Amino acid sequence: MTDTPTKPVPPIDPWTQPYWDAAAEGRFVIQRCRACERAVFYPRQWCPHCGAEDLDWIEASGRGHIYSYSVVRNYPPSAFADAVPFVIAIVELEEGPRMMTNIVDGDPEQVACDLPVEVAFMDRDGVSLPVFRLREVAPAGHGEA
Ligand SMILES: [Zn+2]
Repeated sequence: MTDTPTKPVPPIDPWTQPYWDAAAEGRFVIQRCRACERAVFYPRQWCPHCGAEDLDWIEASGRGHIYSYSVVRNYPPSAFADAVPFVIAIVELEEGPRMMTNIVDGDPEQVACDLPVEVAFMDRDGVSLPVFRLREVAPAGHGEA
């Protein structure tokens, strides 16, 4: 008998700590550059757009759409063997950045590019991981007030 491999958890360092602290509270935060005001993801020490080292944390909307995805049905890394089928996706956030994540809580066959998604949180060994699920959108003409 072999040990069951464990799923990896992200390394947490001083400049990603605010991201993981927020996720633990069920909040989804990203960075924004104070110099050029553009959104930044993944967490880092300087702005990839202008090079400024003046990044702030903002509460993101938690909404976006699927930019690309893949459904894993066969031969996943061994720690994920019990999770198939699952969806790996690149989500484009409303704020602009794209992030690699999972689409959860639904039928993988319903996932498609451009569908709207919203953030959810998945616990893994005490770390709250931001993931996404398909988001219901009100039909046109029945807008929210
Ligand atoms: Zn900048």
